[in-house]
Parts: sequence; C-alpha cells; structure tokens
Amino acid sequence: LKENRIVMEVYAAPLYRGGAKFGTIFVHRDVTKQVEVDRMKSELVSTVSHELRTPLAGILGLAELLLNKPLAPERQHKYLTAIYQEAERLTALINDFLDVQRMEAGRQTYHWEPVDLVPVVEKVVETEKLGTDIHAFSVSIETKRTVIRGDRERLRQLFTNLVHNAVKYSPDGGTVAIRLYEHSGRLCVDVRDEGLGIPAEALPHIFEKFYRVDNSDRRRIGGTGLGLTIVKEIVKAHGGEVDVVSEEKKGSTFTVRFPMASITQEIN
Ligand code: ADP
Repeated sequence: LKENRIVMEVYAAPLYRGGAKFGTIFVHRDVTKQVEVDRMKSELVSTVSHELRTPLAGILGLAELLLNKPLAPERQHKYLTAIYQEAERLTALINDFLDVQRMEAGRQTYHWEPVDLVPVVEKVVETEKLGTDIHAFSVSIETKRTVIRGDRERLRQLFTNLVHNAVKYSPDGGTVAIRLYEHSGRLCVDVRDEGLGIPAEALPHIFEKFYRVDNSDRRRIGGTGLGLTIVKEIVKAHGGEVDVVSEEKKGSTFTVRFPMASITQEIN
C-alpha cells in the first residue's frame, strides 16, 4: 500500500459438467480500501494505548492524590492546574489525531476560495505574539501576487503550526521571520527561526506522525508530533510542497511552495 499498490482478493472455483472439469471461474475483488481501513483501525488502537495513556495516567494519579489526602489549598491548586493542563494536552492530541486521520483518508472537506495569504499570516503572527515576550517577529512581503485558491481555515492552521513551532523551539528567543516571495513560478512562504535547529539525522522524519526529536533540550517542550504531519497534508491538498533547511543551534527555515496555477488574482 505504501507504494500505492492495489490489493486484490482472488477466488478460484472449478466448473464441472457431467463429472468432467471444463474450466475455472476466477473472481477478483479489489480490497485496497478495506485493507487501508483495517490498517488505520489498528493504528488507532496502538495510538490510543501509547499516546493517550500517559496524560490519562497523570490525570488519574493527581485526582487520586486530591481525593485521598487532605491538602493545603496551594497544593490543591497546583494539582488542579496540572490536571487541567494534562486534559488540555489530551484534547489537542485527539483533535490533531482526528485531523490527520481525516486528511489521510481523503475525508477532509476543503472550502475553496481565493485567499490572500498576507492577512492570514499577519493574523497568525498577531496571535503568536501574545504568547511570548522574548521573540521578535518580522513579515516581509516581496511579491504582489499573494492570493491563492485555498481553504482559509486550513491555511491558518498550517501557518499557525509553523509559526508556533518556530517560537516553541527557540526557547532563548530570537527573531521569527516570515517572507512571501515568488520563485521558479511558485508562491513561496519562508518561516525562519533562530532556535534549536534540527539534527541532520532527524530531518527525514520530522513530517512523520508522532515523530519528535528526542534530546534533553527539547524534552520539556510539549507537543504531539502531529503538527508537521498536518502541515504536510494541508500543503499537499493545496497542490504545494513543504521542506526544511536547518542547522543545529542556528535555527530552521520551513518553506511552503504553492503552484502558480493556484494563484487567482493580483493584489495591488
Ligand atoms: P511537535 O508537537 O512535537 O512540535 P511537530 O510535528 O510540529 O510536533 O514537529 C515534529 C518535531 O520536529 C518536533 O518535535 C521538533 O523536534 C521538530 N521541530 C519542528 N519544528 C521545529 C523548529 N522550528 N525548530 C526546531 N525543531 C523543530
């Protein structure tokens, strides 16, 4: 299936007339879809057991402490805050996971319309600014043709994931720079940060489901490992591409490219 193969089930039955076999009937059934559905179901089961158990165990453990011991109000508040955060993480994980499942199964509906990427990106930056006071942001628009045929909400989700990562993986601050430009007949958007960067051996994997770079600097940074999978799926649905150039301790640049054919009008 990974190489887009078709899975067939074949039944063969001999045909007899007057006790003598005179032929064989073959029935071919395309079970590609069924096999894919089975694969996704078993993946869901293993995901539930691996990814959802950890936050749930945290919630249960803390709730048990609160129920079984008389605790000082400050301690109670601390535990309740932790429960709240774990439940929030669980909700984000489930939402991201459902998004990925829907997108991969081709069941995500897109509402296509002309979308100007400039206000989309600017809004994402405004929102991310609220969550940090150690990062500077810059948005540089170097082309007039910034409208594509797209789904506004999904594009917002795509750039939110990229800009949010840029902030999250720059724990010491720095500038998050966004650039819109045309190159080789495509509309490109760079999201650049001056953060931790990504080790070369991890680069081929970062768009995979649940993949997270494992090193001590990052362990404290929360996440689901699904953000970039969602980015990849949204970009694909828009007929585009996404890639990354990164150097450890220097920073990363994610580049999204949309095909020129999808650019519907020029903004003056
Ligand atoms: P997560 O929820 O872990 O952030 P993502 O799918 O968004 O999941 O990213 C996958 C991994 O790629 C992250 O765990 C992180 O290690 C790495 N990564 C993503 N964006 C950046 C970035 N801008 N700088 C450094 N590392 C990044």
